[in-house]
Amino acid sequence: MSDDAPFLRHAPAGEPMPLVLDSPHSGERYPDDFDHAPPRADVRRAEDTHVARLWQGAVRHGATLIEACFPRAYVDPNRSLDDLDPDLLADAWDGPLERSRKTEQGIGLIWRLARGGVPMYARKLRAEEVRHRIDRCYLPYHGALSTELDRLHRRFGAVWLLDCHSMPAIGDVNSDDPGRARDDFVLGDRDGTTCAPEFTAAVASALRDLGYRVAVNDPYKGVEIVRRHGRPGERRHGLQIEINRRLYMDEETLIPNTGYAGLEADLDRLAARLCAFVRDHL
Ligand SMILES: [Zn+2]
Repeated sequence: MSDDAPFLRHAPAGEPMPLVLDSPHSGERYPDDFDHAPPRADVRRAEDTHVARLWQGAVRHGATLIEACFPRAYVDPNRSLDDLDPDLLADAWDGPLERSRKTEQGIGLIWRLARGGVPMYARKLRAEEVRHRIDRCYLPYHGALSTELDRLHRRFGAVWLLDCHSMPAIGDVNSDDPGRARDDFVLGDRDGTTCAPEFTAAVASALRDLGYRVAVNDPYKGVEIVRRHGRPGERRHGLQIEINRRLYMDEETLIPNTGYAGLEADLDRLAARLCAFVRDHL
């Protein structure tokens, strides 16, 4: 794959399992046409830095990992295409628009605000710039996920998606819970609609067995990726998982902290348990 590929696919080592992990927000390749106003260090605080690397061991247990290479503040695959703030644009948009809570918070499809609430751009974006981001990054990423999930579903009759993220330790100004200290992990199944409850329960209990505090659907319920790809009635299960960033990095510098290696080892144990769960539910 070329250097400017929008995503990377990490194939399972050995026998594949119908378990896909995806990391939509850990991309670190900043396109030349991003043209953000705040310093890069501030913009990077939107990333779920290191998340794809932390989960990479899951492929040894048979999972497939798909990671976005583009930064989520450039275009966010975990938003719906109509979650676009018209205030960002210099000209008219030719698609449907639906203001969501995320639009209001400045963190819709194209982020209007960087973390801390400062404007992301010093100018309006042309509609064709936004269209380019969708065509170049957003659609290929969802296409890769659909291809992988469809292929495994055809082969196994069921498939499980773990949509992998990380979250600030304390809710910030872009969030629904400013100032609040988060648990170690937050699982989101959009109030039980994107996967069978047994899957959410299995991930929660595996994490609690490893000694972590786990919340479910609070404050993160899961957004577009599990909404779009999680259809439990068709045996397609999607669950969002948020890791508290203080478990593995300094949130200002993005440098891994002393917790990183231990967390990585625990995620490896979790991936092994999830593959066992998947095997038991085929
Ligand atoms: Zn994320």
